Amino acid sequence: MEGNNKLRSIPSIDRLLSIASADKEINAYPRELVVACLRQVAAEAREALRLNSEQECSPAALLVEAREMLSRCSRPSLRRVINATGVVLHTNLGRAPLGRRARECVTDVMAGYSTLEYDTETGGRGSRYAHVSEQLCQLTGAEDAIVVNNNAAAVLLVLSAVTKGREVIVSRGELVEIGGSFRIPDVLRQSGATLVEVGTTNKTHLSDYEQAIGPNTGAILKVHTSNYRIIGFTAQPDGRELAALAHRYQLPVIEDLGSGTLLPLAAGGQTEPTVAERLQLGFDVVTFSGDKLLGAGQAGIIAGKARYVAMMKQQPLLRAVRIDKLSLAALEGTLMEYVLGEPEQTVPALAMLTIAEDILKERAIQLTRLILQPELSGLTAEVVPLSSPAGGGALPLAALRGYGVAVNMPGMSADKLESRLRQRNIPIIVRIQEERIIFDVRCLVETDMEEIAAALSEIWRPGA
Ligand SMILES: *Cc1c(COP(=O)(O)O)cnc(C)c1O
Repeated sequence: MEGNNKLRSIPSIDRLLSIASADKEINAYPRELVVACLRQVAAEAREALRLNSEQECSPAALLVEAREMLSRCSRPSLRRVINATGVVLHTNLGRAPLGRRARECVTDVMAGYSTLEYDTETGGRGSRYAHVSEQLCQLTGAEDAIVVNNNAAAVLLVLSAVTKGREVIVSRGELVEIGGSFRIPDVLRQSGATLVEVGTTNKTHLSDYEQAIGPNTGAILKVHTSNYRIIGFTAQPDGRELAALAHRYQLPVIEDLGSGTLLPLAAGGQTEPTVAERLQLGFDVVTFSGDKLLGAGQAGIIAGKARYVAMMKQQPLLRAVRIDKLSLAALEGTLMEYVLGEPEQTVPALAMLTIAEDILKERAIQLTRLILQPELSGLTAEVVPLSSPAGGGALPLAALRGYGVAVNMPGMSADKLESRLRQRNIPIIVRIQEERIIFDVRCLVETDMEEIAAALSEIWRPGA
C-alpha cells in the first residue's frame, strides 16, 4: 500500500516538462529528446522505488538525472582518453597515436573530396592502392605492395589468393592466437586452405618442412610469434634456407609478421625483425599491421613479389577488405615521416617506445609538481620507477624501463579513485599498484599532465 503511494509520488511527464521548460540547460535540447529522457528517468525512478522505498524522486532529483542523461547524448562514446598506463600500443585504447603529418593528411582528405580513385595525370580512374605502394616498396625493398583494412584481412586475402584448395605448411610452434579470436588454423580454414602442421611446439627442422611437401602443397607459412616467445630448447630453420627449400619446389613462403617494423628497433632489451630483412631472406610475401610498430592507423600491408600481389588484386575478397580513405591518408602521412624525416622522433609510437629514461624521469618530476599544488595538500605523490610492456602484440618480452607517479588520496581507496578517473568526460586510464594509483608518464604529453592534475583536484575538492 505504502509502496503504491510512493509510486504515485513520481511526478507526471507533463509536470516535469513544465518545470523543465524554465531550465536553460535542458531547453537547449530538442523537445522530443527531452521527453524521451524524462520518460526514461521516471521509469528508472519507478523501478528503483520498487526495490528501495527510500529512493528520492522529487522533480528536482529527476531533473538532475535528466540533465546528466542529456549531456551523455551529446558526448561521443568513442572519444579521446589519456593513456597513463605506459603501454604504447594499447589495443583497447586504439593502438598507435598519429603524428603531425598523418593528422594533416587525414584532415585534408576528410572534409571534402580527394584523389582516392582518381588519376590527376589522365583525368581517368586511378587506384586507391597506388597512393602508398611506391613508398612501401622503397621502405621494404618489395617489388609491389597492397594495403587492406587490417593485418587479419591481409592474411586472409593472401591465403585466399595464393593457397585456396591447397595445403599450407605451418610449424607447430607458430599456430598463433592473436586477441579477438584471430587464430591461424581458423583463418587458414576460412581461406579455403588445409593446414599441415609440422615439427613440435619447441622445435621444427628444415627436414620437417621438406617431408611435408607433397603434390598439393600451396605454400609454406611462417607466423611471427608477436605476442609470445618459445624460449629454452628450441629450433626453427634459418629463414634463408627455408626460402631456398620452398623455391626448390616452386612454392612461395608467406610470412604473417604481425607487428612488422620498417626500422631496426631495439626497445626494452628486445628487437623485432624488419620487413626488409624478411624479404631479403627470400620470403615471397610478408604481411603486417599499420597500427602496431609502424605507427599509423588501422591497416594491413602486404608486400612482396609482384606476381603474388597481382593475384591479390584479382581477388573479389579485396573489395570486402578494402581500406578506407582516412586510414589510407593516415598511412601515407606516416610513411612520409619514414621517407622524409626522422621517424624515431616524429612517429609518436616509435618516439614513445625509444624515449630515454632520464626524459621520463624529468616528466614524472614535472607531473608530481603539478599534482602537489598547494590546494591539493594532503595528497601524496611520489616518483616511482616502472617497467611496462610495448603492447599490441609486439616485443612481448620487452620490459620498457620508465617512470611514473604513484598517488594516494587519503580517505579514498585506489579502486574508487581509479573508477572516478575512468568515468570522466576525458577518461584517464591508470593502473593500480600496491593500493596506489600509478600514472605512467611514457604516453603523456604536457596537456595530459595538466588534465591529470586538474582531475585530481576536482576529485579531491569537489566544487572548489
Ligand atoms: C596483430 C597480429 C595480427 C592481426 O593484425 P591486425 O592488424 O590487428 O588485424 C595478425 N597476425 C599477427 C602475427 C599479429 O601479431
